[in-house]
Amino acid sequence: MLIEATSTPPGMGSMVLPGYGAELLNWLNRAPQIATFGAMVADRGAGSVLSVRGQTLVRYNITRADIGKLVVAVEAMGRLLFAAGAVEVLTGLPGAMTVASMPALRDALQRSNPRGLHLAAFHPTGTAAAGADEQLCPVDTTGRLRGVDGVWVADASILPSCPEVNPQVSIMALAQAVADEVVVAR
Ligand SMILES: Cc1cc2nc3c(=O)[nH]c(=O)nc-3n(C[C@H](O)[C@H](O)[C@H](O)COP(=O)(O)OP(=O)(O)OC[C@H]3O[C@@H](n4cnc5c(N)ncnc54)[C@H](O)[C@@H]3O)c2cc1C
Repeated sequence: MLIEATSTPPGMGSMVLPGYGAELLNWLNRAPQIATFGAMVADRGAGSVLSVRGQTLVRYNITRADIGKLVVAVEAMGRLLFAAGAVEVLTGLPGAMTVASMPALRDALQRSNPRGLHLAAFHPTGTAAAGADEQLCPVDTTGRLRGVDGVWVADASILPSCPEVNPQVSIMALAQAVADEVVVAR
């Protein structure tokens, strides 16, 4: 688990605030008093993207172990916020949107359905992993898509797995390395 303080401009951070319309605007008006943490989990769940009757269907199955980590992380973030002087903590849990103490947060976590956890995927990686193993890696070690001439992959999809930290610098470094390979190949 990695806990990060994620202070974004209010418009961008509004997705973690509850409600719509007037309720959301009310929270946004209080943005200067809001501090935000996010917890990252290197998840082990799997999903799929299917085309069903012309519609794209995205499915994701979170594992029990990952849910356990997220619950621990939410409690830890609550502890950090209360220790920093928070008078109220937004939980992201549908059953108890805000709590005013650690016992109340623990109670809310115990009562909550893990399916109601507020999840987002900011760092999808590895969907076309690069590597030497032809069976596991659709992309070779230089960035070429196996089996297709002239196609190179130079984005987050070639990371071999979840890096467990913010990935952007690694993605840029890999993209640059693939670009060098393209130049050499020309
Ligand atoms: C809210 C948020 C915050 C983040 N914060 C951090 C952070 O603090 N640190 C960090 O390391 N990472 C962070 N990330 C993750 C990071 O941004 C991504 O991992 C990274 O940008 C992925 O790089 P990429 O080149 O694979 O894809 P992208 O950066 O998504 O680039 C894909 C590009 O392809 C373009 N595109 C899509 N379809 C087409 C098409 N059909 N034709 C032409 N162009 C197309 C898109 O417009 C886009 O410019 C964050 C992500 C999000 C969503």
